[in-house]
Amino acid sequence: MKTANGMVVTMHYTLTDDAGAVIDSSQGREPLPYLHGHGNIVPGLEKALEGAAVGFKSRITVSAAEGYGERNPEAVFDAPRDQFPDDMEIAPGMQVYAEGPEGPVTFTVIEFTDNGVKLDANHPLAGMNLNFEIEIMDVREATEEELAHGHVHSPGDHHH
Ligand code: ZN
Repeated sequence: MKTANGMVVTMHYTLTDDAGAVIDSSQGREPLPYLHGHGNIVPGLEKALEGAAVGFKSRITVSAAEGYGERNPEAVFDAPRDQFPDDMEIAPGMQVYAEGPEGPVTFTVIEFTDNGVKLDANHPLAGMNLNFEIEIMDVREATEEELAHGHVHSPGDHHH
């Protein structure tokens, strides 16, 4: 079977940055299943895997534009310290979460300023080339329920 819209593709992956540092990897874990054609993975990787079969093994480089997007300099801003709970520990490099109008938003703490904290709302991998080593372990047809939900259900999943 080949990768196409509506197929569940299970793959091993290793993601590195341009310097070769590993950002994320499925090695030593179960391979990752995703539903092809539903935006479960970044667009450039989904495109590159179109039509690939079990046993497909490749190195795929995805540009920032087709990965997590370019960095938006306007997404870096200062927030007053009193917007955070007093007892909340904040440190540069930490991720903090807030409820936005379209769901949860993640911010990265850049540094402390005189009055508060400089935050970055860009995705931590925005602006980066993504270098994937991919090996496709399995391809199967999605169930109707998976297609309706737009994501993969593993055997132990509860209904949701
Ligand atoms: Zn579901």
